[in-house]
Amino acid sequence: MSNGQNMKSNQQPLQTTIYLDCNATTHTHPVALQAAREAMELCFGNPSSTHLTGLHAKSFLESARVAAAQAVGANDSEEIIFNSGATEGIQSSVFSVLVHLLDEFRESGRLKRWRVLYGATEHKAVPAAIHHWAEVLRIPVEIEAIPVDKNGLLALDFMEERLKECALICTMAVNNETGVIQPLEKISQLLKSQDGLGCFWFVDGVQALGKISINLSQLGAHYSCFSGHKLNAPKGIGFLWVSQNAPYTPMIVGGGQERGKRSGTENLPGAAAFGRILGELNNPQQSIFLSHQMLESCRQKLISTLTKCFPTLIWNVDIEVCVPTTLNFSVEGISSRELMNAFDAAGVRVSGGSACSSGKSTGSHVLIAMKLPKWRAENAIRLSFGPANTESDIDLACRAIQQAGEALRASCMIPNLPARAEQLAELTQHLDTGVSELRSSEGTRTWLMICDPKTSFLVSDCDRALTELKNKLACRGLAHTQILQLDALSQHSALPPEWRQLKSASGTSLLFLPSAHASQSPTDQKPMQSADMPKKGSAILFSPERQCLEELLNGSLPQFITNRTLLACFACEPTALTAYEFIDSTVHHQSSVASSVLTGFATHNSTSHINSRIECTKEELSKKLSLENLVVLDVREAFESATSHLDEILEQIIPRRAGKDENQINVKILPLSRLPQFILERLNQPREERILCVCRSGQRSLQAAELLRRLPGCESFSLKGGLADLLLPTLSLPPRSVPQRFHGKE
Ligand code: PLP
Repeated sequence: MSNGQNMKSNQQPLQTTIYLDCNATTHTHPVALQAAREAMELCFGNPSSTHLTGLHAKSFLESARVAAAQAVGANDSEEIIFNSGATEGIQSSVFSVLVHLLDEFRESGRLKRWRVLYGATEHKAVPAAIHHWAEVLRIPVEIEAIPVDKNGLLALDFMEERLKECALICTMAVNNETGVIQPLEKISQLLKSQDGLGCFWFVDGVQALGKISINLSQLGAHYSCFSGHKLNAPKGIGFLWVSQNAPYTPMIVGGGQERGKRSGTENLPGAAAFGRILGELNNPQQSIFLSHQMLESCRQKLISTLTKCFPTLIWNVDIEVCVPTTLNFSVEGISSRELMNAFDAAGVRVSGGSACSSGKSTGSHVLIAMKLPKWRAENAIRLSFGPANTESDIDLACRAIQQAGEALRASCMIPNLPARAEQLAELTQHLDTGVSELRSSEGTRTWLMICDPKTSFLVSDCDRALTELKNKLACRGLAHTQILQLDALSQHSALPPEWRQLKSASGTSLLFLPSAHASQSPTDQKPMQSADMPKKGSAILFSPERQCLEELLNGSLPQFITNRTLLACFACEPTALTAYEFIDSTVHHQSSVASSVLTGFATHNSTSHINSRIECTKEELSKKLSLENLVVLDVREAFESATSHLDEILEQIIPRRAGKDENQINVKILPLSRLPQFILERLNQPREERILCVCRSGQRSLQAAELLRRLPGCESFSLKGGLADLLLPTLSLPPRSVPQRFHGKE
């Protein structure tokens, strides 16, 4: 579903949001909202009460139960237990089987079946529940993951070999990351064989609902869980189907609701909403949902757009084995973080297929189980829509994806697809001299130093991603960039004259340009700005590792580098901003100003505004923007700011003040990768400044503001929560008239 956000009266929405992350959660559909509202306003009773209001509520609940039973092919609606969602259903199922095994163990002192198997690509809740409950109950089961093939399909032979000893098998119907449909029919046949009888089967049906038809009783499964929010009902409602011949031990006891299987007053609004959605599923002719055929046609549109925009895109799974609503892919040369940022800026919400811990991307366990190459597992994107989407949502999505693709292309981020001529002209015109950080898609950090269009250096300590980086450089018109590889340097001593390398005892490297090469640059080229480039006697320092800096600080240093220079660089660790040019104080030692600036920066010791809070909330933004001479720095990368213009966003969100020129918001674009150069200029020439840094979530801007604050004279702030907070939807639903019946007698 697309929705215009932050619409103020008489204004166009800032941007249309196209939500393509339906496997994570979905919006609550108006019909579900209406049902929930009816349950809250009209049938608000407690289903356990015996008066008429309670009976009405019970009737609401029971019709939802009937709809649920029909949707999943239950034999009887009594097999449906409403609960909070799939995670709870998983716990209840695993717990029930293990308690059953424990009883057997206590009675006979042994287990007839002692294995618990689960698919290697299951949702994390499944293995977590098995391990947790086996440990809590101290039951000696052997827990094993069923391997999968390159498409994520379960190895049936592995299951067959272990079937005789199996007490519980947990498999999913459809995978949440890839959309792969598991061969439930084949698993059913296995379990109906002689060796399979006696093994309980849990099916995670969460991602199957609304996408493939499912008949649990026919399959002969024992348990299956579902979550309302994955199919346009609200969060906090789900149900567990338990076959009549499966053991069940309640985990929550009390008032005996849900026939004693799950106590606690029922979530009636949630059940009513989910029931209405399930009713739509049961009535496909007049449903709010798209048909399977329409879903396939939507998928085809997305596939065509994506492959056109990203020629190096690779599908991580064969689409023939997937539901039509999930696409999982990686793009060679572009990291999932960059792609997600570009999509997000263009209004398309997708999900990265990998988890991020402490800034390092770890590949998705699903893609790793499928033995995908590391770079694909780490850089996967999952795009998922749902049956409640419309064809026009998908058309909008395709247009926004094209925009994101164009923005990436204009920033030379798409390998093998050079920027268009007009984009390139623009790019070379604004070629940023000085140092910037350049990352490869696999995360290798490199530093690009541009002296002028003809003289540039790329410093890298890794050669794995060099082809990709060379493409990016060529696209920027920097085809002749000298590549200095820190690791290779000592062997080849391929350094240009004037450059020097230092190696620490642990083998890591630093690279210096102790005296200027600026003076060697051809004067017929674009003249270098004095503040931009290193002056004679300056040092350029690239540090691959914090440890290296520490070692060097503690050791004896060559003459051309001072403790202070190292310290200044060290002060910048461990941020992403490791490459700096610093005025070497061996030359500038006579200038106490330069020395104190450096020392202050290095030791976080700037004095002027140490006490003012660095983070500014969106409520304080208006006041902040009215500060004199404030510059708003957009620290997002160029491919993000290209599709979502910070000045326009601020203009719309912050009420205009008197229309005076001096009240105009002064927005500058400075991607975080260019911050080193920005800081350098200020280290060379301190100035009084007020800067408010803004990014998408407030993380990058805080990093930038913290560094800038260390510059003397720089009063820097970061917008807390970033654009995400600023663009928080402010629309409020119109109040509904209070229904007559609410006041009247029943
Ligand atoms: N199983 C699958 C396949 C899922 O995709 C999810 C949610 O992402 C769950 C289980 C857990 O669902 P919930 O968080 O609604 O309990």
